[in-house]
Amino acid sequence: MSTDTPLPAHNWPRLEPGWVWLCGAGPGDPGLLTLHALNALRQADVVIYDALVQEDILKWAPQAAHVYAGKRGGKPSAKQRDISLRLVDLAQQGKRVLRLKGGDPFVFGRGGEEAQTLVQQGIPVRIIPGISAGIGGLAYAGIPVTHRDVNQSVTFVTGHDQSGNTPGSLDWASISKGSQVIVIYMGMKHIAQIARQLVDAGRSQQEPVAVVTTATTADQQVLETTLGTVVDDIAKAKLEPPAIICVGRSVLMRQVLDWQGMASGAAPRNLDPLGRGRPAHTA
Ligand code: SAH
Repeated sequence: MSTDTPLPAHNWPRLEPGWVWLCGAGPGDPGLLTLHALNALRQADVVIYDALVQEDILKWAPQAAHVYAGKRGGKPSAKQRDISLRLVDLAQQGKRVLRLKGGDPFVFGRGGEEAQTLVQQGIPVRIIPGISAGIGGLAYAGIPVTHRDVNQSVTFVTGHDQSGNTPGSLDWASISKGSQVIVIYMGMKHIAQIARQLVDAGRSQQEPVAVVTTATTADQQVLETTLGTVVDDIAKAKLEPPAIICVGRSVLMRQVLDWQGMASGAAPRNLDPLGRGRPAHTA
């Protein structure tokens, strides 16, 4: 899209000098940006973006300075404070600042902390939500995060805490009992431990698991496996983060809903992945 294509008519907010807009960029595919994000990109003087933001998106802000503020997941990030202070500094210089974060800024992205620091320093902020990888990334793999025949709840968890360890505070036994579908962010490093804890808590070794890496980008890979085999299969497929790991029977819906397969020419398959004795779509 050319940068001079007008946005559809709407009362678009103006990014004023001295403000910071904290904005989700979605999981990767630039088409998953919101119109508010695009409106922000077109007005910013500076865009400060994360490692998970596709750089193609920055082409939609040719007038702005592009500043990379990547951090690698799992490592202690002493830099978080530096990033927040840099945002404060730019805003105090009177810049229109766009802080662009992967997925949704308030989902495991420290957006809350950044916004808090800004507000504490007297900087006004606007929050622009984005499509989180745990929902949109799975959708790109043909996995509905809820499905009436599978789950009435879904739990989003992070596989490690700020120090890079599996969060001791997570009660895997309750998560396992309380939620039919578990979506794990930042889970690759500790997947062996997580899978073991889920099985110890009563989940079946045969329970379906999907691992979706670089979801929604051209490099997206999807591994379908089970709790018992996920560790070996990740190693065999040489999968690397970033990845969303989904545990639960909704993974089976991919047999019918792998729409990317259809986009590449596969015929739609009217199967019964949940074994309901009827095709998936009938009431
Ligand atoms: N705020 C982001 C999450 C940041 S935490 C969001 O809402 O999506 C970083 C983790 O998000 C990664 O380790 C990975 O688990 C997940 N993630 C983000 N983008 C992803 C992508 N394109 N594909 C797979 N996982 C992704």
